[in-house]
Amino acid sequence: MREVVGIIERKKQGMELTRAEIYSFVDGCVNGDIPDYQIASLLMAICLRGFSLEETIVYTEALVKSGRTLKWDDSARAVVDKHSTGGVGDKTSLVVVPLAVACGLAVAKLSGRGLGLTGGTIDKLESIKGLRVDLSADQIRAQVMSAGGVIAAQGPDLVPADGIIYSLRDVTGTIDSIPLIAASVMSKKIATGASCIAIDMKVGDGAFVKDIVAADDLSEAMIDIGRAFGCKVRVYFTNMNAPLGRAVGHSIEVSEALSVLDGGGPEDVRELAVMIVSGLLRDSGLIRQPRAARSSAELHLDNGDALRALDEIIKMQGGSLTHFSASPPHKSSLSDRYVASPATGYISRVDPIQIAFAIRQLGGSRLSKESDINLAVGINEMVKVGEKVVVGDPLCRIYSASDNDSRSVEESLVGAFKISDRPGLAGQLIIDQRIS
Ligand code: URA
Repeated sequence: MREVVGIIERKKQGMELTRAEIYSFVDGCVNGDIPDYQIASLLMAICLRGFSLEETIVYTEALVKSGRTLKWDDSARAVVDKHSTGGVGDKTSLVVVPLAVACGLAVAKLSGRGLGLTGGTIDKLESIKGLRVDLSADQIRAQVMSAGGVIAAQGPDLVPADGIIYSLRDVTGTIDSIPLIAASVMSKKIATGASCIAIDMKVGDGAFVKDIVAADDLSEAMIDIGRAFGCKVRVYFTNMNAPLGRAVGHSIEVSEALSVLDGGGPEDVRELAVMIVSGLLRDSGLIRQPRAARSSAELHLDNGDALRALDEIIKMQGGSLTHFSASPPHKSSLSDRYVASPATGYISRVDPIQIAFAIRQLGGSRLSKESDINLAVGINEMVKVGEKVVVGDPLCRIYSASDNDSRSVEESLVGAFKISDRPGLAGQLIIDQRIS
């Protein structure tokens, strides 16, 4: 397409694209008029030259309009959503969605698959046998109206342009662009009709946002987009200098989320979920008072309502929590071994990247979009920063496909846990917040 060459040239020179140019690009991606090499070339130009706020908003709108949109005028519940920028061991959505539902909100969540070192909610859910994640817009809507919540994969009905563009960005080095990320994330939330959105912006070694400056830029872009579309956005900057919880791996993380929904589980996962749901309750106007919002989230976690809400969501999507809990895939792993501490002392660091690399080596994460992954492998029962260990105590437990695989990651796992003479500080879980 000749016209696209002109658009690429203009962006390459740092010029602002017009509304018509942005729409013609997004429409051309969906109807197949623009070949992948031209899409990728423009994406690279945007990555290097950026988008103004006006361009970012128009681009988000064009993504939203590339497919159907959901409206909730007839819903008795406020429809809210949550997004995480991705961290190691982040199973928070599996707790937040049913907890929000149990507290009286509705959630129509489109989630992604894992790529690179961080896992995706959709892969985690697929460790539940029979569960369907490929749902049409009508099925998503019907499930939200009856069960209050759904977690589905992005498909051809909703924001199809983002599906096409995101997979190209992934293989052309054009992921790390603030306007492209912000528009991609927010377009899905806007298309599914969320009135309030919580963004869990992971910051630290195990996240793609490494520092507060980058977190601020991304959160500002998301808040600005939200404002333009009438959605309230609350961004939490949360600590990703260590894995979240004690479990990393698909089936193991589902089990850990279930233990949090059963009133137990690791404190950091619980706290993050309670915090996010309290914020959604306040922003939606359902419970305005901060302390009352928090109490409601805690109550519905502790009294089993959130677990029942997840059970209902999973059933409607074809899975069974009872079946999963009776035989979670990781429990049938061929190798199940503990990693022993080489020293006595206090855990002063748990390196999220080393843990994520070990998961990759065990076959639990993707090198490319096409790779198959093993949903049963994982690392569980990890000690946390500040805890005391005696030489020989377990640092973590590896579930893998063979003893050889487990042995191959053992040394790097020992190195992931730093042991010191003094207790280290775990660091604040919630570092900061930005509100629209
Ligand atoms: N997640 C998305 O949905 N889009 C991005 O661009 C990055 C993460």
